[in-house]
Amino acid sequence: MGYVDRVYEKVLEKNPHQPEFHQAVKEVLYSLEPCLAKHPIYEEHAILERIVEPERQVIFRVPWVDDKGKIQVNRGFRIQFNSAIGPYKGGLRFHPTVYIGIIKFLGFEQIFKNSLTGLPMGGAKGGSDFNPKGKSDMEVMRFCQSFMSELHRHLGYAVYTDCPAGDIGVGGREIGYLQGAFKKIRNSNEGVLTGKGLEYGGSLIRPEATGYGASYFALEMLKVRNEDIKGKICTVSGAGNVAQYTTEKLNQLGAKVVTLSDSNGSIYDPDGVTFGKKFDYFMDLKLVRRGRIKEYAEEFGVEYRPNKRPWDIKCDLAFPSATQNEIEKNDAQNLVNNGCIGVIEGANMPSTPEAVEIFHEAGVSFAPGKAANAGGVAVSGLEMVQNSMRLSWTREEVDNRLKGIMQHIHKVAYEAAEKYGHPRNYVIGANIGGFLKVAKAMIALGII
Ligand code: NDP
Repeated sequence: MGYVDRVYEKVLEKNPHQPEFHQAVKEVLYSLEPCLAKHPIYEEHAILERIVEPERQVIFRVPWVDDKGKIQVNRGFRIQFNSAIGPYKGGLRFHPTVYIGIIKFLGFEQIFKNSLTGLPMGGAKGGSDFNPKGKSDMEVMRFCQSFMSELHRHLGYAVYTDCPAGDIGVGGREIGYLQGAFKKIRNSNEGVLTGKGLEYGGSLIRPEATGYGASYFALEMLKVRNEDIKGKICTVSGAGNVAQYTTEKLNQLGAKVVTLSDSNGSIYDPDGVTFGKKFDYFMDLKLVRRGRIKEYAEEFGVEYRPNKRPWDIKCDLAFPSATQNEIEKNDAQNLVNNGCIGVIEGANMPSTPEAVEIFHEAGVSFAPGKAANAGGVAVSGLEMVQNSMRLSWTREEVDNRLKGIMQHIHKVAYEAAEKYGHPRNYVIGANIGGFLKVAKAMIALGII
């Protein structure tokens, strides 16, 4: 049995019933094989055995009182996975499907993603099985305060130890309540979270960063293929933070976004979610009214497809931006059959391994989430920099840095893929590129 096989077997044995975590570990470990073969030092230092084991895992009770005066109890998580290259960094997800296997898959991915940005950030993730949907603002506030009353104990010296951010179900409102609770408990104004509002330490472009970053990554990938993004038909899934700003940037770049979705279904607008009435309606629907994507179809008389994902719609580029495993084998086959040339993952692990294989075989340029959606955490890193300096950069300054970081990530992934014998395979390139920095740091820091 080879080194990777042995480590992966052990992961399965020690972490039963966590299929998402297994999936993420399997993809990373096997894609590192060409690198591990070339550099036996990583096996000698047991880097894989150490990197698959979180440094710390915290699970806690989150009791809160709903508007009817009834006591509710949720479960909270923070997985501090790896801090070799910097303080733990990674979002909080509030969604009823959250359990330890989801948080571990996301935390593990975050190690390599954060490394790829070139900024000093370790990998972590957290969250709760709390569902903010349908809750009043006061209920969300009480939940966030209870969540932080325990989480803060584990954040150490906060920005030097662990600095969380948002993810699914955790947007500006939740970050505000969490930061407020931390400030009250600690009597400290340090920016313990990123994604903060501009009035209390946030960075311009942070809300836009993941979607803008994914679009910038698409530009780099298209350059390699000698293709222009102008006029490209794009399918986007999701209707949340990532989908919103992917749609905005693609419009700015002259591409056309023809789909959006949520967990109930998708809309198909062949004329595009264009700037003006349509885009403004969409943003107001999601950010102000917190409504469902179905209402967009009703408002503009376009097709609403209940319980359907967008992947059977003809497109040049696909931007899965909702959740994990939302592109399965048949979806991938549909995309290929319809002439799609690029898949850019705005979400984390939205394509199943079978889907990724189909993309690679068909010569589709495939950008894995850890490279393509790293813009979010990158600007979170820049928010930390601005907080440390007690200064705020302009939109242009942050946007230019984001663009530079996305170009850097593309270059690292592209060059690593070439160097290790798998040209244009961004999965292998991103994993090796992200891994090397962390592995070297772990060796330098000793057995800790
Ligand atoms: P939001 O909560 O803002 O939006 C999530 C969207 O995806 C909603 O439209 C939601 O629909 C849909 N969705 C969620 N779960 C499911 C599901 N099980 N099936 C179908 N649709 C679903 O989250 P974000 O936009 O922030 O995050 C989207 C993805 O991007 C996630 O994978 C996240 O990890 C990833 N990501 C986010 C970053 C960020 O900066 N926000 C950074 C990097 C990655 P509904 O309203 O019906 O639930």
